[in-house]
This record gives sequence, structure tokens and C-alpha cells, in this order.
Amino acid sequence: MDANFDWEIDVPENGLAAALRLVNGSLPSNQRSEADGDSLASLTQKSLSRKLDEALQTDLLDAADVASRARLRAAGAPHAGAWLAALPSDGLDQRLSHAEFVACLKLVLGLPLISQDSWCPRCDQILDSRCTHAMACMSSGDANRLHNELRDAVYIKCLEAGLAAEREQPNLLPEDRRRRPGDIFVPHWPGGQGVAMDFAITSPLQLAQIHDAAASELAAATAYEQVKFSDRETARKCREHGVRLLPMVAESLGGWGTEAQKAFKVLGRSLCSATGVSHGLVVAQLYQSLSVKLMRAAARSSLARAADAATSSFCAAAARAQVEIDTAEQ
Ligand SMILES: [Zn+2]
Repeated sequence: MDANFDWEIDVPENGLAAALRLVNGSLPSNQRSEADGDSLASLTQKSLSRKLDEALQTDLLDAADVASRARLRAAGAPHAGAWLAALPSDGLDQRLSHAEFVACLKLVLGLPLISQDSWCPRCDQILDSRCTHAMACMSSGDANRLHNELRDAVYIKCLEAGLAAEREQPNLLPEDRRRRPGDIFVPHWPGGQGVAMDFAITSPLQLAQIHDAAASELAAATAYEQVKFSDRETARKCREHGVRLLPMVAESLGGWGTEAQKAFKVLGRSLCSATGVSHGLVVAQLYQSLSVKLMRAAARSSLARAADAATSSFCAAAARAQVEIDTAEQ
């Protein structure tokens, strides 16, 4: 902004004064801008947009029920919306079909994907109309497939970065050779120490987490990180063998726990050195790729269960109709 620009802020018909009144009217009192030239000259469009976005998010959270608040916080977590900026490329495995894209939007917005609650045809639990259950349903291998997709995507990025990564490395804990505490083992992580990355996906909308997830961002991922650290004293045992355990926990609506975010930042620096591409871009592309995999898996899981539920419902209705016809003919 030109520092010599005359704001004429005190003139009632001034357009800038009217715009400022409009913006301030949408903001809480402690976020409003003063109507003097010095204060206004330091404002940027970005800072004003952020204030308006934060005020809108606060209003939405205040008006939402617990489930909607948890969903809003999960969808608003850092990098959770990266799938919307991903290049829709087959070569990068980042393409979503039309049905998948619409399902993703409905999952994020909490809109119904099926007309009424039903039974999950894969595990016989309640399949709610917004497919909250479908995003967390562990049946039919969907969760394992997504886990392996995320693991492999990060593994390939480690190789691109010149890190000698191994998948499912055995014998990391010599006292318990059957256990594999990490899905990816990197013997020389930047900084010198070996790390074992352990991937997991958790739903912020599951009953055990929904209240914490409604109260604070990434609560479900943070809770699962602690489970990973403490489970069978894995973190301590790894440390005794010179390996740092890195819980790589994703939430089903796309956010990643703070441990994973730190790891991606470090991996980004190695990728930047190896490829010459800027750190910001390689990290953004990594999040976009992972975010598409997370959201596509949630969409496919929901669409498949919705289709199976509809088929079951149709078959049940057809069977009832046949019984009625048979009874009438007797
Ligand atoms: Zn199920």
C-alpha cells in the first residue's frame, strides 16, 4: 500500500471508511481495526481475510453440536484440506472420480450420503446416514489398505530424499524379534539417529474421542500418539536400541498429528536438498498426495457401504413383497 495515500478516513462518505465499518462489524471487538491512517496502512488483505475467516469459524463452532464441532475442527486442522489443492493427476495417483469428490465434500460438511441410518453390511454396526461409521470401519481390509498406501507413499519420498529407508524392518528389538515397532525404519534420519515410523489412522468422530475432538484440534491424533508411545513400552525399548519411535498418526478427515508434522518438515528438507525443489513446495505436495489418499479411502469406504446397505434394503423389501404375494395366493 502506498504510505502517502490519503485515507480521508474521517469523511463520512469515504468508501474506505465504509469498508472498514463493514469489516469491523463482522469481527469481535478485540479484533477490530482502528480508523487511523497509521494503523490502516499496516493492514494487509491477507491479515484481514484471516481475521474474517477466524471470526466465521468461531461463529460456526459456537453454533454447532458436538459432532459438528469435532468435524469442523478436524476438517480445519493444518493440511487437512490439502486434497482440494492437489493436482488431479492419474500419474500422481491423485485423481478422484466425480462420485468420490462429491462424497468427500459431504463427509467434510457432515451432509448425509444415504437417506437413513442402517446397518453396516461389513460389520453389522450402525451405519449412520453421514457415514461417520464408514470412515472408521475396520472391516473388509479397508483400514489396512489405507495404512499401507500411506506407508508406501512416505517410504517412496524417503527414497527420493536419499534416505536409506526400509519397510517392515525385523529385529529392531532384539529381545522381541517378532515385533516390528515401525512400518518404516530409517537408520540415519537427519540428525544422525535412527527412526521407526509407525503409521495409524484414527477417527476424531468415534465415540471415545468426539468430545475431546470437539474441544481441541487434533485431539484424536494426539491421544493416539500417546498410545503408540506407551503401548508395550515401545518408545522406551526403541530408545534403548538407539532408535526413536515416530508415531505417524493421521485423522480420517486429513489432519496429521504433531509428531508426523515434524517428521514431514524434516523429510521436506532432505527432499529439497535432493531435488532442488523448494521446501515449501515439496512439503505441500507431500501433504496433498497423502490427503487425497485419506479422503479417497473415506469416500470409497462410505460409497461401498452405502451401496451394500441399499442392496440389502432392496433385497429385504423384495423378499417381504414376495411373502405378501405368496400369502395372498394361498
Ligand atoms: Zn462397519
